[in-house]
Amino acid sequence: MQKGQISVQTENIFPIIKQFLYSDQEIFLRELVSNAVDATSKLKTLAARGEVNKEIGNTTIDIILNEDAKTLTIRDRGIGMTEEEVKKYLNQVAFSSAQEFLEKYKDENAIIGHFGLGFYSAFMVADKVEVQTHSYQQDAYGVTWSCEGDPEYFIEKNEKTERGTDIILHISEDSTEYLEKNRIQELLDKYCKFLPVEIRFGTKTETIYEGEGDDKEAKEIEVDNIVNNPNPLWRKQPSELTDDDYRNFYNELYPYSTPPMFWIHLNIDYPFNLTGVLYFPKLNNSLEVQKNKIQLYSNQVYVTDEVKEIVPEFLTLLHGVIDSPDIPLNVSRSYLQSDRNVKKITGYITKKVADKLNDLFKKDRAEYEEKWNDLNVFVKYGMLSEDKFHEKAVNFALLKDVDGNHYTIEEFKDKIKDNQTDKHNKIILLYTNNTDEHDSYIKSAQNGGYEVLHFDQMIDNHFMQHIEYKLNDYTFVRVDSDTVDNLVQKDETKESVLSEKEQEKVLGLFKDSIATPAANVEIKALSPEDQPVIITKPEFMRRMKEMQALQGMNMSAMPDSYNVVVNSNHPLVAEKLLKMRSEDKKSEFTSHLYNLALLNQGMLKGADLTKFINKSLDFLK
Ligand code: ADP
Repeated sequence: MQKGQISVQTENIFPIIKQFLYSDQEIFLRELVSNAVDATSKLKTLAARGEVNKEIGNTTIDIILNEDAKTLTIRDRGIGMTEEEVKKYLNQVAFSSAQEFLEKYKDENAIIGHFGLGFYSAFMVADKVEVQTHSYQQDAYGVTWSCEGDPEYFIEKNEKTERGTDIILHISEDSTEYLEKNRIQELLDKYCKFLPVEIRFGTKTETIYEGEGDDKEAKEIEVDNIVNNPNPLWRKQPSELTDDDYRNFYNELYPYSTPPMFWIHLNIDYPFNLTGVLYFPKLNNSLEVQKNKIQLYSNQVYVTDEVKEIVPEFLTLLHGVIDSPDIPLNVSRSYLQSDRNVKKITGYITKKVADKLNDLFKKDRAEYEEKWNDLNVFVKYGMLSEDKFHEKAVNFALLKDVDGNHYTIEEFKDKIKDNQTDKHNKIILLYTNNTDEHDSYIKSAQNGGYEVLHFDQMIDNHFMQHIEYKLNDYTFVRVDSDTVDNLVQKDETKESVLSEKEQEKVLGLFKDSIATPAANVEIKALSPEDQPVIITKPEFMRRMKEMQALQGMNMSAMPDSYNVVVNSNHPLVAEKLLKMRSEDKKSEFTSHLYNLALLNQGMLKGADLTKFINKSLDFLK
């Protein structure tokens, strides 16, 4: 047996490795299994070139747990190492790259996926690591290398005749979780699910059925527990795949979830290499829950499911897999965002997603409209956050009216521009965010020949502002923010049936009975079919308030004022009110009309509402 010293600069690298990112110790398994996969792939490459003189046989990688011996073994049937190679690769190459990694890690503490520690990550969980290896090369002999977590190592010949490498981890006292079958299975599922070489973790029982009909018998058998799918869907050609394949794969990634709406297969090899498949999930209201489900792989090795730095924020709503060896993993997350390759990748994915949506829109408008409900938040979010996406999406983003018809922004403009353009040449888009609450306002807008849009998502306030800002000649006004003709800012005023004097009198009566400073009472000649009294909340004021609320500001700073518009052409005002004799009756009457208007706006509440109901009951008596 030979004894040696690993060439050390920093004597204390082992304690550092041991403590290194306690929460991420589990990645040791990924590192060691990836090494085993690499060794196997190298062997296959050599064999394909005719450089291996024996049949390569089965190359399954085995993960072997021995609870009695307290060891975890990773066994591959790859190229193995000669004695010289063990010295070179484990004592020098692996050691110095681990050192380099730790140096780097000290400065930039969140390295994406923690790639780089490699072989020496074994010492995060093991007191002693033994490597038993036998090279594929002719005349090679078996070699054992062992090290107990200090710079001293031992190397000796062994009797191993089978080609390949066993990495035997003597699990340390404080890492006994890695001697539990379930824990190892969990890690294999997380990190090794799509590695390109078959990986076996013991056996499992499977129930099979023998016989037919009544003679059918359930039988339990032991089968190999293969933990990975070496040939995942995203690595295949889209032309080989059916819709069901894509759906099944989605299910493999996210068991028990609602099927996706559609998907994009990513496949590019220039100017960077990237494969993957992105799914559009059916979005529901809990956006946060659905975010951050994209998994990042590097050559089928799982890296992370935090891809915020690689895909634009709005795309984190998508699900699926991105696999690229061109995303640098040995760097900090903040560095990643400024990386040129990553920027290109981001741009590519954004474009692909926009193109896919555009395709769907062009090919099957009806289906696209049907999906709009599930899609709109995503598209709007994208338009708000990415200029490039906005430019494309502005052509396939849809507006929905209160009757459920869909229009592109351009189509809607064409439809309404003659009737709903104001004197500043702005297109006025009337909308409601609550068809129930705004029913009477919507009806009167429609009676006036105007179109009303329906926005009902949290994001819509931002979306409307975005459209106003980007497209310049659009203004959104909520249908209850002014009287209809004022909304579209037509200058022509209707003729009032009342004289100036009479109007003044009516106004005075209402002002007297509406004794609140918040109400700004005015009289206007509206259509006799409109309500006698209408309460409106100016668009500008409401938006200011909404913004303040969003920013968590104190809203009491701004008074809650509103307009009360008395319709001088309504028969109850123009005829009935003016004919009343008793002042009490008049006051009762105006106050009742005002309360009806409050009720219509959902503003009559509590004691006032009770009083109003009791009053109405009195009338009926
Ligand atoms: P990396 O894999 O990034 O090169 P590692 O520290 O994981 O760094 O390993 C260092 C080297 O040791 C590898 O490049 C490889 O040559 C050798 N090695 C590690 N594990 C194996 C293995 N299972 N079979 C053959 N060679 C191995």
